[in-house]
Amino acid sequence: MKIAVIGAGHNGLISAIYLAQKGFDVSVYELRDRPGGMAYTEIIKGVKVSRASYVLGLMPERIIRETGVNIPIIRQDPFQVIYHNNKAIPFWRDKERRLRELEKAGEERYKYYEEIVMKFKRFFEEKIAFTDEPPSLEVVKEEAEKEGLEELFEEPLQKFVSNYISPELEDFFIYPDSPNELAFMTAYRFSLDWSYVRGGTGTIGEKLAERARELGVKIFYNTKVTKILTKDSRVVGIETNGKQKVELDAVISAISPIATSMMLDEGLKGIKDIKLPHAGWRKYNIILKEMPSIPDELKPFAHSIIDYDYGEMTFPSLADDSLGGLVITLMGSIDENPFKGLREKALIIDTFTPEELEERFNVPYGYLDHLPMRGQFLLDKRPKYRTEILGLYLSGVGTYPGGQITGIPGRNAAFALIKDYESGKLK
Ligand SMILES: Cc1cc2nc3c(=O)[nH]c(=O)nc-3n(C[C@H](O)[C@H](O)[C@H](O)COP(=O)(O)OP(=O)(O)OC[C@H]3O[C@@H](n4cnc5c(N)ncnc54)[C@H](O)[C@@H]3O)c2cc1C
Repeated sequence: MKIAVIGAGHNGLISAIYLAQKGFDVSVYELRDRPGGMAYTEIIKGVKVSRASYVLGLMPERIIRETGVNIPIIRQDPFQVIYHNNKAIPFWRDKERRLRELEKAGEERYKYYEEIVMKFKRFFEEKIAFTDEPPSLEVVKEEAEKEGLEELFEEPLQKFVSNYISPELEDFFIYPDSPNELAFMTAYRFSLDWSYVRGGTGTIGEKLAERARELGVKIFYNTKVTKILTKDSRVVGIETNGKQKVELDAVISAISPIATSMMLDEGLKGIKDIKLPHAGWRKYNIILKEMPSIPDELKPFAHSIIDYDYGEMTFPSLADDSLGGLVITLMGSIDENPFKGLREKALIIDTFTPEELEERFNVPYGYLDHLPMRGQFLLDKRPKYRTEILGLYLSGVGTYPGGQITGIPGRNAAFALIKDYESGKLK
């Protein structure tokens, strides 16, 4: 079986690793000059910067173990801090210490929130995340009910959070523009494992690419797949850089589902007609000339992920001595942030935008997770791994179960292909 994976983002590389472990002949085609996709490190003025994604926390241990990849993480402690009204609430890695801190801040019911959310995380990994055929929302709800987790699938996010968190801090547990989404979304993104990756998130792509190569995977950089070739509703190959044709038995597309659909003459059902408003986030990467002035209450925790009223920032140089300088990442407002006079201390302010994501990474509409993590794209409404074209699979973050650096879609799509091959469907 000759298989191509389109895109060397973390999901594409994870698909490639699982397939190579099964002995398939796998090649990965990547339009950029390096692996990792949105998990990438850029060197700006000699300083290593995680230009897009900046922390790792949702990749299940199982994927690390099964792929045999070794990602050097830095477990900063506290892993996160909420900074609000000149007060800092640290989230320590030690449970007792963390709960004590939240209680001290007047959040007596936080412990119940964490209990439910962590129960969801176990349920997610044990029952619904690892599958080649995503379950319907009804099935997920039924299973969740058996575990006593029904409120996460019945209540809106804001209502659920308000049962456990005071109105003052509620917004820190609700993601922008999603108060009416199903409550499970607060649990999906919650993690006690949020960590920096040594050398920036680009190290994730490098380590995965290294592992893939060890297993015999060929990776072609600066190679854009321009067409997926089909015959009688079956994949027969790809075209690269608008000219070269490669004959294949199967293809896993680990890029945006919309971009994949655009490479097919007929498009993909349910995907080709998706129209979205352009995404509206901004990420700033700031290289500093000198140390900024950090409020006293925040000083002991400035090395962790700082959630503040207008966004989220990190100062990874305080935790990672391999970056070669002072760098701050910031999602949200640059002019309203807790570090005073940040602009004046900056040597460079690099802005990463949805437009750049669209142009340079081929993500139509510029969404962080290829498709929004909202109502019409949640759980069973996200594209699945198998497509109507025999031998064509999807495995990017736009597929089930969705957002962030998890590697779950990459793994599941590889298993869908392996299962179809073993059942004789692909022969
Ligand atoms: C600003 C920002 C901040 C974020 N912060 C975090 C965070 O801190 N933690 C977290 O977990 N997640 C974060 N995310 C989300 C996360 O980075 C993404 O969801 C994830 O990296 C997507 O991985 P992927 O492998 O599915 O796709 P991608 O990373 O998009 O990889 C797809 C690859 O395919 C390539 N490609 C596209 N089209 C073609 C083609 N036609 N031919 C060949 N190659 C092609 C692209 O160049 C890319 O390398 C953030 C995202 C952004 C943009």
